[in-house]
Amino acid sequence: MKLISADRIGKDYQVGEVAVHALKDISFEIEPASFVSFVGPSGSGKTTLLNLIGCLDKPTEGVLTVADTDVSALNRRASAAFRGKNIGFIFQDFNLIPVLTVYENIEYPLLMVQSLPAAERKARVERFLEGVEMTGQKDKYPDQISGGQKQRVAIARALATNPRLVLADEPTANLDSATAYTVINLMKKLRDELETTFIFSTHDPKIVGEAEIIYTLTDGALQGRDVKKEGSHG
Ligand code: ADP
Ligand code: MG
Repeated sequence: MKLISADRIGKDYQVGEVAVHALKDISFEIEPASFVSFVGPSGSGKTTLLNLIGCLDKPTEGVLTVADTDVSALNRRASAAFRGKNIGFIFQDFNLIPVLTVYENIEYPLLMVQSLPAAERKARVERFLEGVEMTGQKDKYPDQISGGQKQRVAIARALATNPRLVLADEPTANLDSATAYTVINLMKKLRDELETTFIFSTHDPKIVGEAEIIYTLTDGALQGRDVKKEGSHG
């Protein structure tokens, strides 16, 4: 069964009198536990597409199904509930809360899950701190850790609610290439362990090579799909 199915989706933005065709006639399917990248230059539609998959915006044409749900049909409230249950987000600029510690940043989304007992919450935070190798830094604040460490905390935060899908829009854009490589491979390791689907966007060819399925976007159109053999590198 597919986790995501996009059938001829399009997205137009109306800017004054002019319609910007940000995405045109896009179709693809993504299986559970995939490690996928959307690659393309600035303005090619990566953010627009991730926003549609993340249920932050709606296609203007076509049908988009995520986790068995026609996300085009959800209202604002239902979209928010859908995101909370199914999707974790990772951002280019990390978006950690500066007044919370590493531990508290990972715990934060779990505080919204009313039904989770405190002991289970603590166990979950500790498990993901360990998963991203940040246990030793758990009491530090974001401004006391490096960019790569911040992104590791953001990965743990995205995974804490056990989402089926993690979306990362240019997660390595603010990292040097060695750190970027490490962060992407940490995501891949966590995908192997948890079978969570990861989708990231990038325009960095070094990083995109780490994805197993690569979709190329140009001017809002899907140009191709490249599948790498399992376990291949570089
Ligand atoms: P990328 O993330 O690959 O840089 P985007 O998805 O941000 O590309 O943008 C795709 C196209 O849509 C660009 O032409 C951009 O200018 C346009 N666009 C994106 N967001 C908006 C918006 N909110 N209003 C109008 N045009 C937009
Ligand atoms: Mg973008």
